[in-house]
Amino acid sequence: MTTVPYLDLAAQYAAIRDEIDGAIAAVIDASAFVRGPFVDEFERVFATAIGARHFLGTGNGTDALFVALKMLGMAPGDEVITAANSWISSAECISLCGATPVFADIDLDTHTIDPEDVAAKVTPRTRAIIPVHLFGQAADMGALTRIAEKHDLLVVEDCAQAHLATTGGQIVGTIGDAGAFSFYPGKNLGAYGDAGGIATDDVDLDARMRMFADHGSDPTTKHDHRMEGINSRLDGLQAALLAAKLRHLKDWTALRQSRARLYDGLLAGVGDVVTPRVRDGNDHVYHIYCIRTAKRDELRDHLHRRGIATGIHYPTALPFLRAYEHLGGRPEDYPVAHRYQGEILSLPIYPELSDEDVRRVADAISDFFASTRA
Ligand SMILES: *Cc1c(COP(=O)(O)O)cnc(C)c1O
Repeated sequence: MTTVPYLDLAAQYAAIRDEIDGAIAAVIDASAFVRGPFVDEFERVFATAIGARHFLGTGNGTDALFVALKMLGMAPGDEVITAANSWISSAECISLCGATPVFADIDLDTHTIDPEDVAAKVTPRTRAIIPVHLFGQAADMGALTRIAEKHDLLVVEDCAQAHLATTGGQIVGTIGDAGAFSFYPGKNLGAYGDAGGIATDDVDLDARMRMFADHGSDPTTKHDHRMEGINSRLDGLQAALLAAKLRHLKDWTALRQSRARLYDGLLAGVGDVVTPRVRDGNDHVYHIYCIRTAKRDELRDHLHRRGIATGIHYPTALPFLRAYEHLGGRPEDYPVAHRYQGEILSLPIYPELSDEDVRRVADAISDFFASTRA
């Protein structure tokens, strides 16, 4: 029996059913299924929401990262530095270009990519950095931008978990050369299927990405393929319902933040629990509320027995996945990512989560530590 699910997309749909059903019906009435006016409209409103000049919808967030890197010229022989703890897309996109992922460890407080380790990993082959705004908190863009400028590197932000997050007053996705977003259903702004997109202020890059993501074809003239590309287009249904949901995103973000503040207070001083730390100047949007404890596995079992679902993001850091075995990453090369993969636990957090549910989760965690005190 699950009393507190990790995520409750049905509750969100129930709250905005008329808007979603209306959006879907409009697309079907217009038979505007792939790209078309609903996609144009979503691209326009999302660009406005984050303050980007251009926004291109893609089939998913992984493609968004890949299309951006590819059109920025990543190729075999190039190295791209990415975070040791992330979803695999943050590294796959590099290999898909034929380039080599180079992992940098994460920082102790925020779990985002550690600029000091990034600086240490720069070689003459390094072409770009992918700051991952992990859990909904911006990476240290000030330090990373300085490194990028010093070594003439491109910056592609992975914003898949960080819609509307800001750092130093700037919205993520508008700081680097391009910002890739995912609208996977569970993300802070989620479609009802796969969807993603790329923000940039560079009109030429936007044009190249548009072409590449649509079979290398000139968007104004059908059958004029200037190059080979891929098929990664946003579809009309996803675009229309994303536009409807976007109207709620600020409110939903504020609700996530208030749930996080409640957890912060209730979990302060409980056992050895470390609650999320927010870097000065950051506005964290809490896609994930990630705590740490040395008793992670026992705590997780205890919560599951109480019907409280949790997640681990991620149980194996990227350098230690079998997919990256050939890169030879050792635990001592990524000490923070290696230690944290055994300590991190993601608690339920979503706008529809009630204060009562937050209290239930926090109480269950307190009970666990009260009963295991040696
Ligand atoms: C979800 C996610 C992606 C990939 O997005 P998809 O839409 O699932 O392809 C990339 N990076 C991070 C950090 C993510 O969480």
